[in-house]
Amino acid sequence: MEPLFLGARELNIVLTRQHLALFEKFYQELVEWNQRFNLTAITDREGVLVRHFLDSLSCLRVLRRGELEAGARVIDVGTGAGFPGLPLKIVCPGMRLTLLEATQKKVRFLEHIVATLGLKEVRVIHKRAEELGHEPGHREQYDYALARAVAGMPTLVEYLLPLVRIGGKVLAQKGEEAAAEVHGAGKAIVTLGGEVRQLVPVELRGLAETRYLVVIDKVAATPDKYPRRPGMPGKRPIME
Ligand code: SAM
Repeated sequence: MEPLFLGARELNIVLTRQHLALFEKFYQELVEWNQRFNLTAITDREGVLVRHFLDSLSCLRVLRRGELEAGARVIDVGTGAGFPGLPLKIVCPGMRLTLLEATQKKVRFLEHIVATLGLKEVRVIHKRAEELGHEPGHREQYDYALARAVAGMPTLVEYLLPLVRIGGKVLAQKGEEAAAEVHGAGKAIVTLGGEVRQLVPVELRGLAETRYLVVIDKVAATPDKYPRRPGMPGKRPIME
């Protein structure tokens, strides 16, 4: 657990024994399930601790822990095996977390791991973002919508911005191309009611490359026609 503990400390996050025990269990279950269902390409211990757990926790450079702990509503879109949502939930148990995932086998793992870790106030939803974005209990309901490694920026904002309330934020975890991606998504962001707030570079202990947190404010309602039907945001992203 040392790479995670030390890396988190550099992000000003102190992981307790209880946190570390939950991360250890998460790691064991992920590796075991991965032998049967291909959930993630990263399975070596250091890789999981740094590239999955620590990278997820780096969202706390932007998200305020106090706000999460006070019951903020957060949705992680295309969460896969639970990243970044579940590591954040382990550290901030007060947040109300929704995990959205389109692939059935990943949903089964998510339900299993949420129960195994005893996490409360976590909803796992098997659906596409294009569908959930039109449902009254979810459209413009979230304080934060998060995503990592799900789609290019113009497509991603069509998944995320419809779910965020006015005054809430989108947080996208991106790699070295973050600035270019944001630049190319200008029209999509404005069309969907967003405004780019900041790009925060993040250096993680044990990772050579710089990661970026792209923060977008939701400043206006998303027009009713968005998100378009499943597949369209990917096939025809909103471009200049
Ligand atoms: N966020 C996780 C991570 O960083 O490890 C998983 C990344 S994985 C490359 C992308 C995931 O997004 C897949 O599990 C896929 O099923 C899901 N996904 C892609 N498009 C989606 C959509 N429109 N709605 C819901 N889930 C979606």
